[in-house]
Amino acid sequence: MSGPRHHSPGHVVVTAWTCPDCDVAGRTLPEASPECWNCGGPVVVTARPTVPQAETPLR
Ligand SMILES: [Zn+2]
Repeated sequence: MSGPRHHSPGHVVVTAWTCPDCDVAGRTLPEASPECWNCGGPVVVTARPTVPQAETPLR
């Protein structure tokens, strides 16, 4: 058993955020510093969901 935080293969935990200035949202890998893709400014982290890796917008 891997415990309650086991992650399924092919899934990744991401940092979900919103930018209140631009009213946009995005996702960033947790090891990266989240910043707004629109203005490049600071963002507000809203959640850390686990998503299928194919849906992760890696840039
Ligand atoms: Zn912004």
